[in-house]
Amino acid sequence: MRRLPLWVLPGLLWGAYAPGAHAFTLTAIRRGPRGARRVALTFDDGPDPVHTPKVLDLLGDAGARGTFFVVGERAAGAPDLVREMAARGHEVENHTWSHGNLWLRGPGATEREIVRTHEVVHDLTGRPPRFFRPPWGMVNLAVFPTLRRLGTPCVLWSLQPEGLRPVAPHEMASRVLRGIGPGAIVDLHDAEGVPGAPGRLLDALPPMLEGLRAAGYACVPLAELLSPA
Ligand SMILES: [Zn+2]
Repeated sequence: MRRLPLWVLPGLLWGAYAPGAHAFTLTAIRRGPRGARRVALTFDDGPDPVHTPKVLDLLGDAGARGTFFVVGERAAGAPDLVREMAARGHEVENHTWSHGNLWLRGPGATEREIVRTHEVVHDLTGRPPRFFRPPWGMVNLAVFPTLRRLGTPCVLWSLQPEGLRPVAPHEMASRVLRGIGPGAIVDLHDAEGVPGAPGRLLDALPPMLEGLRAAGYACVPLAELLSPA
């Protein structure tokens, strides 16, 4: 009988641990109830000391409130900005500590990535996060027991106008306005992940917010979107 190559068993185990764990994201939150014209604008990867305050001003001018999935180490480095987000009525939620790829993190490191950010957000805002979003939507099997223990469900999105490739601001706004519907969860980025993403967001937000207002949508934080109207 031929012997299997040495990498087969670790490869199978990793496949079950990382890509295989995506079966659990079938139950992740991707949108809210469709009964009311409410949507959630969510902002990943910040806070960014230059761009995030401008996002807060644009939202404030439009009477919109959003949900910020912050990177823990960035939040810890900009404590006043995180407090300001919360004080202005936005939600501050968990997007891991270092924004690493969870496919490449073992169980202990995964738990630390989630718990450290949970604690820093709690300390800064006085309220523990209620939701978790994994970087690039990528998970592993260790994510889910930790989320259960913290009581923070995994949130993905129903609409992502810019993914890994840059999208022009006017196109980003029009993708949102074309794809929007009651209960939509829109995934945006207020800090650098894809190069130039926050700058493009600042140009896309005014027409996006105006279009949503004109179509009768209220932009509310996630917890509000997901609670009965
Ligand atoms: Zn991210």
